Amino acid sequence: MAKVRTKAIISKPAPWWLMQGDEECPACGELYIYELEFRCPECDTISCLHCRRRHSDGRWMCVSCAESDKETP
Ligand SMILES: [Zn+2]
Ligand SMILES: [Zn+2]
Repeated sequence: MAKVRTKAIISKPAPWWLMQGDEECPACGELYIYELEFRCPECDTISCLHCRRRHSDGRWMCVSCAESDKETP
């Protein structure tokens, strides 16, 4: 049984969630693809998918909205 050694790094095409887009996320500063943007239903802020947070009521919000809602009773 010969072990297959992969010496050469095969450059696979990046999956869609790793592709670099043109839109800059205001929350984290990373570039993301326009199609993958997340718009906060509370404040209409656009950010990337990594910067959305799940609120306790199950809805997705931007980081600031999710955190500010935590403090309100
Ligand atoms: Zn982001
Ligand atoms: Zn928001």
